[in-house]
Amino acid sequence: MRIGRAAAVTDTGRQRLRNEDAFVCEPPLFAVADGMGGARAGEVAARLAATALEEAGRSVEDVAGLISEANRRIWERSLADPQTAGMGTTVTAALVEGARGTVTIGHVGDSRAYLLRGGTLEQLTSDHSLVAELVQGGVLTPEEAERHPQRSAITRALGTEPTVEVDVFRIDAAPGDLFLLCSDGLSSMVDDLKVASVIEDAELDPARAAEALVAAANASGGQDNITVVLFEIAEGDPAEHTPEVTLAPTPVDALGGPATSPPDGAAPDTGDVSTHGAGKGGRLPALLLVLSILVFGALLLYWGISR
Ligand code: MN
Repeated sequence: MRIGRAAAVTDTGRQRLRNEDAFVCEPPLFAVADGMGGARAGEVAARLAATALEEAGRSVEDVAGLISEANRRIWERSLADPQTAGMGTTVTAALVEGARGTVTIGHVGDSRAYLLRGGTLEQLTSDHSLVAELVQGGVLTPEEAERHPQRSAITRALGTEPTVEVDVFRIDAAPGDLFLLCSDGLSSMVDDLKVASVIEDAELDPARAAEALVAAANASGGQDNITVVLFEIAEGDPAEHTPEVTLAPTPVDALGGPATSPPDGAAPDTGDVSTHGAGKGGRLPALLLVLSILVFGALLLYWGISR
């Protein structure tokens, strides 16, 4: 078996000012990270996690070790930079091992992995979240959990402690399988049956399905950042085929700078260290955003000249 088509889409959604999700779509490694923390700390944490995973590239074998390394980097950055104290991120990663015929999933937090096989969508990961624990304990029904005000509170995160417990498991994969990784901006807005039907309607095309899933989450309110990574398993020898990857937007910071630049104070965030999702605040009109970037750039230039 090999990886066929793969696609990733990330979107700010309709309520948030910034996108604090990040993704990795570098076959054979795929991941979604959903950052949390005040100012731009959530963005920093998610990007650190994605970068740690990307750097491992094709040589990765140990998914748990990779996620632990990402944890260490975020934790150390949060100690070194008080503005990012308490930051953290979810991570859900998938490593395809064609020779073995398996997909290894590693995860921390409430970003999810799903498998669509034979028209049935199965959730592979168990959320590390308050409401998931209450459902397991019989305190809440799954329906109550979906509407619970604390549904975004996670009980395990990457980067908030020196070490982290990572859930890792291996799935036997088969040609025709479609794997979906997503942040809660999709799963809290679109139920599993709808997710399956949207992917089927896109004729199992990862690029079309990813765009359609983001559109469905936005149509349901788009209350949080939405990130979707999809990849299909195909027949054949991985050495003879290159996976076809579609990314939207292209993984370059739209503002022309690294996503880990320090907070600019232009857009206060009401982020809470223990919750993400369901945030308030509106979207700045694009013109205002561009203007504030220009003003900030001019100030930087002036500051640089005057010292
Ligand atoms: Mn989220």
